[in-house]
Amino acid sequence: RSRRRWGRAVEVVREFEEGCSTSIGRLRQVVDAMAVEMNAGLASEGGSKLKMLLTFIDSLPDGKEMGTYYSLDLGATSLRVLRVELGGTRSMILRHQVESQPISPYLMTGTAEELFDFIAMTLQNFVEKVEGLEHTTDLRRELAFTFSFPVRQISVSSGILIRWTKGFAIEDAIGKDVARCLEEAMSKRGLNMRVTALVNDTVGSLALGHYHDEDAVAAVVIGTGTNACYVERTEAIIKSQGLLTNSGGMGFEKMISGMYLGDIVRRVLHRIAQVSDIFGDAARCLAVPFMLRTPLMAAMHEDDSPDLREVARILRENLEIQDVPLRARRIVVRVCDIVTRRAARLAAAGIVGILKKIGRDGSDGVSTGRTEGKSRRTVIAMEGGLYVSYALFREYLNEAVVEIVGEEIAQNVVLRTCEDGSGIGAALLAASLSSNQ
Ligand code: ADP
Repeated sequence: RSRRRWGRAVEVVREFEEGCSTSIGRLRQVVDAMAVEMNAGLASEGGSKLKMLLTFIDSLPDGKEMGTYYSLDLGATSLRVLRVELGGTRSMILRHQVESQPISPYLMTGTAEELFDFIAMTLQNFVEKVEGLEHTTDLRRELAFTFSFPVRQISVSSGILIRWTKGFAIEDAIGKDVARCLEEAMSKRGLNMRVTALVNDTVGSLALGHYHDEDAVAAVVIGTGTNACYVERTEAIIKSQGLLTNSGGMGFEKMISGMYLGDIVRRVLHRIAQVSDIFGDAARCLAVPFMLRTPLMAAMHEDDSPDLREVARILRENLEIQDVPLRARRIVVRVCDIVTRRAARLAAAGIVGILKKIGRDGSDGVSTGRTEGKSRRTVIAMEGGLYVSYALFREYLNEAVVEIVGEEIAQNVVLRTCEDGSGIGAALLAASLSSNQ
């Protein structure tokens, strides 16, 4: 037993836990830093590492949207194609059909032409399938394009790719208008469609959130990456000279998002394997970056069997570590817990930072929950695989929001998840934009 050097393993975990601590004081610093950086990002181009990209969208869906719209949602792990039928009254989505295609690593690192042709082809197959015999090539359809990478918008329906994130690396797409790239690929295939709205997934989520509930003012997506959007007053967007701040910010997304959490756990386990032999001597897989994906990490974390059977299975099947004693499996779960708890609490602080920026965190003394005798609700649309599918992450996040803002304010802060929000919401925006033209 002593041969395994448990003490050293436990010490690594204890040190790690200490380094990951997120006291309420620390969280409040993150809240403040987030609000400061948001202001700096609005004040000048490059004024903050928080980009504060503009959407050009000046009104959110109000329920009057009507008609049939297509929507494409390109995320980091999948391409989703949707067809949405809108009834003309709030929350009247008559029908929506969805199809999802995984994005292969090959496409993520190939050429712009290959990526956009794949998107156009997937869309074309979907249109032919759902329209069946009604299918006609002369009908011009309206398309919403949800493109969840940093884009400098030129208008509501066009924008230039600034850089790739979340594992994508297609050099020749950078600097191009992604809506035009898509339209070219569609026209090559004889697909008669026009991009009416080009939006980020957070903007789509906010649009759907607002369609259901007019108190929705912000949206947060925590999936492979992390991003948020909110409604800002035009006069607050200064984007002029001066004011350069760089406090905090850096590395924030990497401590929170699905792309990284599994790998943080892997690194800690690797370290433990170096100082002890609690995983035996066959822990070579732990040295390989990204060998432990976040959903598997989550499954170990959420293993509620008394002998942690699922942890043993994942270690064996995915990391080739055999016969891990129960005590070592408990250490694995504890590391998952430390990483996830920190991520969720930091994400919560980021969300409260947005609330602070728009004066809804209660710190201004006005929004103590009541204005003119009436509760002032703030709804935040929430989306993304990490938040939606990882219950312990979601619980830690929700708890931390209450801890930071206090019970009273928290009663009026609603975190609301909407399935397929980004895709359906983008279709709603396309609908409201095309009816305004
Ligand atoms: P996108 O890849 O566009 O962000 P999603 O919002 O669906 O799309 O997020 C997918 C990410 O969410 C995955 O990369 C993964 O990190 C995380 N994820 C999905 N399911 C789970 C799960 N059950 N537990 C933990 N994380 C998950």
